[in-house]
Amino acid sequence: MRRIEHFVGGRAFAGVSERSGEVFDPNTGEVQARVALASAADVDAAVRSAAAAQPAWAAMNPQRRARVMFEFKRLVEARMEALAALLSGEHGKVLADSRGDVQRGLDVIEFACGIPHVLKGEYTAGAGPGIDVWSMRQPLGVCAGITPFNFPAMIPMWMFGIAVAVGNAFILKPSEKDPSVPVRLAELFMEAGGPAGVLNVVHGDKAAVDALLTHPEIRAVSFVGSSDIASYVYSTGTAHGKRVQAMGGAKNHGVILPDADLDQAVGDIIGAAYGSAGERCMALPVVVPVGEKTAEALRERVLREIGGLRVGVSSDPEAQYGPVVTAAHLKRVEDYIALGVEEGAELVVDGRGFSLQGHERGFFIGPSLFDHVKPQMRTYQEEIFGPVLQIVRAESFEEALTLASDHPYGNGVALFTRDGRAAREFAARVNVGMVGINVPIPVPVAYHTFGGWKRSAFGDTNQHGMEGVKFYTKVKTVTARWPEGAREDSAFVIPTMG
Ligand code: NAD
Repeated sequence: MRRIEHFVGGRAFAGVSERSGEVFDPNTGEVQARVALASAADVDAAVRSAAAAQPAWAAMNPQRRARVMFEFKRLVEARMEALAALLSGEHGKVLADSRGDVQRGLDVIEFACGIPHVLKGEYTAGAGPGIDVWSMRQPLGVCAGITPFNFPAMIPMWMFGIAVAVGNAFILKPSEKDPSVPVRLAELFMEAGGPAGVLNVVHGDKAAVDALLTHPEIRAVSFVGSSDIASYVYSTGTAHGKRVQAMGGAKNHGVILPDADLDQAVGDIIGAAYGSAGERCMALPVVVPVGEKTAEALRERVLREIGGLRVGVSSDPEAQYGPVVTAAHLKRVEDYIALGVEEGAELVVDGRGFSLQGHERGFFIGPSLFDHVKPQMRTYQEEIFGPVLQIVRAESFEEALTLASDHPYGNGVALFTRDGRAAREFAARVNVGMVGINVPIPVPVAYHTFGGWKRSAFGDTNQHGMEGVKFYTKVKTVTARWPEGAREDSAFVIPTMG
């Protein structure tokens, strides 16, 4: 059986832990590899390697680090098809979606290629008599990233793309469910000229995460995953003196006003609800039509669209989505569908029991649709993370706005309308971190920043863009005096600039 090892100090690293986990092919349901699960000693070896490599990397001028990022981008682009195939084969998303996963990560690498400009800092000449003030951003040292299964290329690149470009060394702890692409990325970073030890990958579960969160040499931890673990990572990491950003789960609403272009909105919602089998933190699993007429028209069109969806193996170019990631995840989604029925929602389309000929043991599930879902239901309050769309009917703009604003999660929200004034008001008032106006999946471009509100994010800084640069650096401000003429007397009061 193939064994997936850690990548430490520029080479494969077996580690001392005897523990390993199963990596499935979700299309067949078979175990295709075993992944090493790090012990605290393995994590410590990675941290030592990173700490040894970091000072020389940070001392390299930023233009040279940027050249490594440029070359890394070129190498990843050249291997796009192989990376997408590797990703689809472990995650289950269709190939076109895997290419998108890699590309959205590369967008952040493109941003990181401009790091010399971004790190220039601020300068004030003549802030006082003979006094100049400037600030510089310096790297933190060794940083770590812990990532979820659903974007095994994009989210690691959100993190290490910026962390290493600004001069840190990085330890990535990717999801143990689909660990191969992150290792390939680290290998390509080295091939691009990244020094050994600057980018390391340590596989593992809670034991590895705890070792990272408590290791005294790690300065900052970025986490993306489900909310309970995000909250744990935030409290444990900060209690150990680390800077922590921890993105959590989501339950994004798509609000449809009566004046929306309904055909366009339905197409967008279907793609955002069922694409990647609903395993996206920016999926749209809840649709809120405003008014009964909108609700009825929406339901009819959604039903028609669902009838035309093709669920297939991840290499099927005609398939809209593939299997979910594991059998355990499949069961979780099916259990939520059963709970929805128990709670009294109307199950209009039931995706359970779906079987793909020739792939009967794969982790497939058909699209499901619930109508008349009520806000107090657990299936509405909680994240399902599967191909299940829930219709929650609202009577007014105000009610729809309140639903999205009051929901415990606050990652993304989308409004579909032709009314600019309503859109403006919605964007200003809604209590959610990322808003789409006629955009179903409002993942911000790489030079802006990504982050939700409420239970969707713990900590104060977003991912990538300038917020990413801030997260992975600390500011030093220098006040320098080169007096002219006579010596000045000692001052015993707080100096002012006169
Ligand atoms: P997860 O929380 O199970 O795992 C995330 C990471 O935490 C993995 O690396 C995993 O190994 C580790 N982990 C798991 N259990 C742990 C424990 N008990 N203690 C410490 N670490 C642990 O999430 P997942 O199932 O891999 O990913 C799906 C979740 O991620 C969904 O909730 C989704 O909404 C969320 N997500 C959020 C964003 C965002 O930016 N807000 C983006 C993508 C995914």
